[in-house]
Amino acid sequence: MTIYCVARNYALHAKELGNKLPSEPVIFIKADTSLRPFGQSEIAYPHETFHYEGEVVLKIGKDTKIGSKVNLEMIESFALGIDVTRREKQTELKKNGLPWTVSKSFLGSAIVSEFKPRELFQDPNSISFQLLINKTLKQDGNLKNMIFSLQTILETLLEFTPLKKGDLIFTGTPEGVGEIKLGDSFEMIFPEINFHEEGKL
Ligand code: MG
Repeated sequence: MTIYCVARNYALHAKELGNKLPSEPVIFIKADTSLRPFGQSEIAYPHETFHYEGEVVLKIGKDTKIGSKVNLEMIESFALGIDVTRREKQTELKKNGLPWTVSKSFLGSAIVSEFKPRELFQDPNSISFQLLINKTLKQDGNLKNMIFSLQTILETLLEFTPLKKGDLIFTGTPEGVGEIKLGDSFEMIFPEINFHEEGKL
């Protein structure tokens, strides 16, 4: 299983980090050992202050060959996720033109809720989602505001790799990212299907 992530996929978020808008999807990867459920579990660098990035995560439903025509039925289900980021480290690496890997891919850095079947959502392209940190609403997003749609993300991945059943894709974070540290609580919501899940870092 591979965890693909899209960076800078919402204009207001790119702006809040001082990044230019991308002309094609910016993709990076987290090791599968980054994956953890919403329930509390181990995290690397436990004494650091991280940034949360609330995102919709999709799961691929079947093995798909490189270059295949994209159909949203390839998506089996959606979850809520947090792309936990060592922002200071990432900024330092970016400044030096180096890969971000150690700021994005580490034990516990890919937090994922229970997956809900795609069919539950009326329109996969306009799923709304929210992230609360310590009971305060921090991010309120909708997939319709992504710079690159689900279709474009899948087409881009399938240009360079086959996708496997069970692969995950973090679709990017809307504006409102900020700090989270060990012991902070988080809650994520799909309002449309009345689904919410909470946990602690
Ligand atoms: Mg992210």
